[in-house]
Amino acid sequence: MTQVTVKELAQVVDTPVERLLQQMREAGLPHSSAEQVVTDNEKQALLAHLKSSHGDKKAEEPRKITLQRKTTSTLKVAGSKTISVEVRKKKTFVKRSNEEIEAEKQRELEEQRAAAEAARLKAEEEAKRQAEEEAKRQAAAAPAERSEQVAAAPAVVDEPVAPVVEERKKEEPRRLDKSRSDDADRRGGERKTTQHRPTVKEKAPAPRVAPRTIDEESDGFRRGGRGKSKLKKRNQHGFQAPAGPVVREVSIGETITVGELAQQMSVKAAEVIKFMFKMGSPATINQVLDQETAQLVAEELGHKVKLVSDNALEEQLAESLKFEGEAISRAPVVTVMGHVDHGKTSLLDYIRRAKVASGEAGGITQHIGAYHVETERGMVTFLDTPGHAAFTAMRARGAKATDIVILVVAADDGVMPQTQEAVQHAKAAGVPIVVAVNKIDKPDANPDNIKNGLAALDVIPEEWGGDAPYVHVSAKMGTGVDELLEAVLLQAEVLELKAMPSAPGRGVVVESRLDKGRGPVATVLVQDGTLRQGDMVLVGSNYGRIRAMLDENGKPVKEAGPSIPVEILGLDGTPEAGDDMTVVADEKKAREVALFRQGKFREVKLARAHAGKLENIFESMGQEEKKTLNIVLKSDVRGSLEALQGSLSTLGNDEVQVRVVGGGVGGITESDANLALASNAVLFGFNVRADAGARKIVEAEGLDMRYYNVIYDIIEDVKKALTGMLGSDVRENILGIAEVRDVFRSPKFGAVAGCMVVEGTVYRNRPIRVLRDDVVIFEGELESLRRFKDDMAEVRNGMECGIAVKSYNDVKVGDKIEVFEKVQVARSL
Ligand code: GDP
Repeated sequence: MTQVTVKELAQVVDTPVERLLQQMREAGLPHSSAEQVVTDNEKQALLAHLKSSHGDKKAEEPRKITLQRKTTSTLKVAGSKTISVEVRKKKTFVKRSNEEIEAEKQRELEEQRAAAEAARLKAEEEAKRQAEEEAKRQAAAAPAERSEQVAAAPAVVDEPVAPVVEERKKEEPRRLDKSRSDDADRRGGERKTTQHRPTVKEKAPAPRVAPRTIDEESDGFRRGGRGKSKLKKRNQHGFQAPAGPVVREVSIGETITVGELAQQMSVKAAEVIKFMFKMGSPATINQVLDQETAQLVAEELGHKVKLVSDNALEEQLAESLKFEGEAISRAPVVTVMGHVDHGKTSLLDYIRRAKVASGEAGGITQHIGAYHVETERGMVTFLDTPGHAAFTAMRARGAKATDIVILVVAADDGVMPQTQEAVQHAKAAGVPIVVAVNKIDKPDANPDNIKNGLAALDVIPEEWGGDAPYVHVSAKMGTGVDELLEAVLLQAEVLELKAMPSAPGRGVVVESRLDKGRGPVATVLVQDGTLRQGDMVLVGSNYGRIRAMLDENGKPVKEAGPSIPVEILGLDGTPEAGDDMTVVADEKKAREVALFRQGKFREVKLARAHAGKLENIFESMGQEEKKTLNIVLKSDVRGSLEALQGSLSTLGNDEVQVRVVGGGVGGITESDANLALASNAVLFGFNVRADAGARKIVEAEGLDMRYYNVIYDIIEDVKKALTGMLGSDVRENILGIAEVRDVFRSPKFGAVAGCMVVEGTVYRNRPIRVLRDDVVIFEGELESLRRFKDDMAEVRNGMECGIAVKSYNDVKVGDKIEVFEKVQVARSL
């Protein structure tokens, strides 16, 4: 129980004596001088008072807190110095009185309120802005809507619009008050929206404002540029409400020329050409457009399109054919597919040997590309054209000849790329698959492996709950072949295949050839009806009377029913695989349609000739008679030209072929470009460039021109194009070209080329090539790029610069320095 004087206490609590005395008085203590003694009880009383008092700041409390914290922090940061403790001390002193806290709270509240207010204001503003925007949008949308209506019902909608303006003009010719100008603005906007839509229908509203043009404009459309009575019409219009836009019904056949199309829309051909140019496909007046393109053009120009099949003849033909009778079930037609060497041929041969020729004297005399076998369960017809070529080719021509696919997979090999491809083809065609797990006789056969592999391709075995029968066979030994046929027939039952044998025959061409002695010979599969010797048939764009008919063993037959393949003789030419065959009543009709088809074929081909891009060459090839990728190839030296020609021509398979239609050493010239255009070829420059003339043609005609500097790259691209797999690839972009005007020597860089940038921009940090006469003579990088004495990062078109090429000193006047970059381009179809 120590007793201290007020003074001592004041020292302890670090408070001036006066202040302590006052606090003591406030606490109700009797002390009045510094020397008076303070008892413990009195100290407690003072403390209690100080604690409970609100206003005065207390030194003791914070100090205590500080000390505590100091300890804690020291413990925490064991080993570290006291600096951190002092920081805490300061922090402690920040502790505020209740009033301050109160005030702080108040401030916070106010701030919150202010923030809320601000937010509210902002929200209001936002709402207002949105409303305005909405209004604007509506204002903008309204005319658009209106113009749509104009198209639909021109007379009705136009009238209320037109008079408004004119009335205003009359009423207030000079005044330009706010509402008026607003209105005018809006109308201005309206006009804009209508004007920038380049369709015929919108031209009508514009003339309202400038009445003088009404007659000319609408007349122009009326007459399609060929009317003579302009004056008369104008007079008429002078007193009539202006006519709305003329929406014409345009009949588009299989093909139509630009001129014809323009005529039908009653616009000038130039309009159409201009429009097509804008669409990115320049055309000439006599250019033949295919139906799709023509439809697009006509619709974009605001006309209604009526697609007419020009096949009136064909339709007549179809009508004239009476195809009726009792439908009975027919044999399935099977195609064997699978990876190379997995045993397709062996399987087909085995079946043919075992099932077809067994009873025939003399055996198989020839292959006709299809045969049928009789089994106990029924008949199966095989399209004996191994590989996916026939299947795909027929499908490409829209013919569906195959009912079931037998997928041959060698048990010792498993699922391979072409297996996968076959699955894709079959699935794409919606044809069920029967899996023949072949070479089961081999010791290293692993059939389960195949199930797993194929299941991954969604060919799920039946025993796994899927719908694909898996049959283990050996084409070599013949094991399992009967089971395979059985599985095929089971699938066929599910398909419920039907045909009408009593009807006239029709079918599809499997293959055809020109036989030296017998003329054109076509193998056709009768798909329905019955084909008879002496029938007049139309086959694709060929026709003829069937002089003779042979079965798969070369034996003459008089007739062939559904699912029976036969060779027919007597056609006037060799049709394509996949062409359809129909029996027609008379020769005249057959000839007419055949000729018509020939003509149409040419036209369609012509119309599509412009689609000759490497990317889509695969697709477009499907339409051509010879599936050929034509290439015009120019190269820097004869050596690489020959190497390339050699490797390119071996690239084809039985489906497609590569033909180098033109080639040579040197830059790509105008005549190369023309050759490419004429032969629907792609242009390849190997270490060479196109000259200005060639480039003009390439751009105008949309030819596909590619530059390469690695033989492998060309081969790869062509390969990919042939398989339709041209994916994203790295292509070079030429950024700029500088022409060497002068060469001088610099002690630092050696030869420096005084250049003029003639195209694009030359960049300091990009790879370059030096070209002489459009042939690449050097590839590398720049040593320096300067303008006067300054180093430049880039120099733009039309500017002069000094270029030094790293480790190259043979630059000559007239050379070109090409700056390029490599970019990843996605496949574009
Ligand atoms: P394709 O390319 O699919 O037509 O395959 P092939 O029918 O030409 O057969 C490729 C190779 O596999 C040939 O050497 C055949 O003899 C052999 N082969 C085919 N089937 C079998 C089989 O079941 N067992 C065995 N051991 N070899 C077979």
